[in-house]
Amino acid sequence: MCGIVAYIGSKPARELLLEGLKRLEYRGYDSAGIAMLNGGLHVARTMGRVSGLEEMVIDDEAFNGTIGIAHTRWATHGEPSERNAHPQCDDGKKGHGIRIVHNGIIENYASLKTYLKERGHEFTSDTDTEVLAHLIGELYNGNLETAVQAALREVTGAYAIAVVCEEEPDVLVVARKGSPLIVGVGKDEYVVASDSSAIVAHTTQAFLLDDETVARLTRDSFRTTTVENVELTPEIQELEYSLEQIELGDFDHFMLKEIYEQPATLKTCMQGRVNAIDGNIVLGGVAEFAEQLSKAKRILLLGQGTALHAAMIGEYLFEGLAGIPTEVEFASEFRYRNPIVEEGTIAIAVSQSGETADTLAAVQEAKRRGAITLGAVNVVGSTISRDTDAGVYLRVGPEIGVASTKAFIGQVAVLTMLATYVGRRHHLGKELMTELLAALEAMPMHIEKVLGESDHILQITKGVVDRDNWLFLGRGTNYPVALEGALKLKEISYIHAEGMPAAEMKHGPIALIDKGMPVVIVATKGSQYEKVIGNMEEVRSRGGHIIAVATEGDTAIQKHCDDVIYVSDVPEPLQPLLSVIPLQLIAYHAAVLRGKDVDKPRNLAKSVTVE
Ligand code: GLU
Repeated sequence: MCGIVAYIGSKPARELLLEGLKRLEYRGYDSAGIAMLNGGLHVARTMGRVSGLEEMVIDDEAFNGTIGIAHTRWATHGEPSERNAHPQCDDGKKGHGIRIVHNGIIENYASLKTYLKERGHEFTSDTDTEVLAHLIGELYNGNLETAVQAALREVTGAYAIAVVCEEEPDVLVVARKGSPLIVGVGKDEYVVASDSSAIVAHTTQAFLLDDETVARLTRDSFRTTTVENVELTPEIQELEYSLEQIELGDFDHFMLKEIYEQPATLKTCMQGRVNAIDGNIVLGGVAEFAEQLSKAKRILLLGQGTALHAAMIGEYLFEGLAGIPTEVEFASEFRYRNPIVEEGTIAIAVSQSGETADTLAAVQEAKRRGAITLGAVNVVGSTISRDTDAGVYLRVGPEIGVASTKAFIGQVAVLTMLATYVGRRHHLGKELMTELLAALEAMPMHIEKVLGESDHILQITKGVVDRDNWLFLGRGTNYPVALEGALKLKEISYIHAEGMPAAEMKHGPIALIDKGMPVVIVATKGSQYEKVIGNMEEVRSRGGHIIAVATEGDTAIQKHCDDVIYVSDVPEPLQPLLSVIPLQLIAYHAAVLRGKDVDKPRNLAKSVTVE
């Protein structure tokens, strides 16, 4: 979602803030802005790209300051426009020169706005953020920190904010609740940002702000408090990301870089956890809950988007390998139902960022209702990782590509490890376990092999890329893979695609099939292979153009399809880790062939931190 960068120190803030915004561009945005204190308050805002903002300020001496705030906005309240872009200000007439950047939603902005209007405030934007700026201005009495604390006591909703005030030119105040914000601690300087990618170039020491806490930063000191002004001591930690991890290198796009990183990131994800020789899984993060996990009556998997697809694969695995009744829920639906959480339920939140607003709220709801909660997240120290009882990190490194790839593989791998970990304590025999884990350990090599087929996949994609409607079909664990393949294609190439269980096609969608319609079918060898071949024939006899993902050596499949992409022969429960790779490459090539901006897909945000 939106990106926040703020700086106070002795370096030129403009360059640092713009560079930070560029690093956060992947999060998705529609407009950008910057405010700088430099012998007065200077502000620039614009629709569109950070490069446009850069052009506005780069030669402007007014922006030569050493304290400032910057923002990329992903509109929630008020259309994307220059006047709705941040930084937003307090009242023009009776204000104090307060400027704020905000990520999140102020839920009670309407009533606050009415109150402020009654007190004579005039608003210049449609945003909820401006209401917060005015409220801070209204409560300002010579101390920005106190005014921010007081204002935040009045608001409901989610926020990460950075605030400056013309009357206190050497103070930066930041705060958060729900939305992420990290404070990088340098020597006599602080770099604050929505995620560490905008910080690591300057310092690797940082602290995370807890919910409803405020930090007051000057050049050489900081103070953190609750909104009630109770002083806190944050724990300064070493950030794990390196600069190299967040740079493009020789790749054209982050998505492609991350697709190619998958063999390595999967290895890291499994390191020290998978022991094929002993047929054992070691998961330190959940060891404390080993007993509750093995006695679990029900597993509840919560996620959205790609994480939901990983969770759906998890459902097959927990039921198939561990024999525990499992359900998958859209976090956004779960949180507003009246979900029945029986005793012995373990809720697992699946999220790359660990900040997904709906998933966070859903797992909190499950906890309130008595479930033990676990996280399967990537970002260390993220809100979900802190709010759950325990968890297993994905360890795939920073994912910049908006269309998730390596995090999906990480999520599926973590759920596979969890399911086998629990299964081993149930009925999974040592022999089967050893066999599965050996195949899991070999998976990076098999993925590597599929990546070697990229040119072949490009040629196949070329043949159908002009078609506007596609289907993706699969059965069993490959059904969620079909959903994921369709989602990838939609996200970055804007081609309409639907994924579904292969058998479901007959119950309606088969009516869509006409001559040449691309139908991607995951038809790897397994318990439902013959059935899938039957479904392929149904598509073929209606003229559909079939691209099959099949098991190496299966030459017989060629007579049932137009194109075939082979993957190694691996045990059925592990197939999703492999069968999704060609679908990621199809989506990538289709987007590039159609001239789309792969890393900045329209309307999309990377981590969805608002509802
Ligand atoms: N709710 C605010 C707005 O619409 C902030 C959105 C964001 O997180 O970028 O301006």
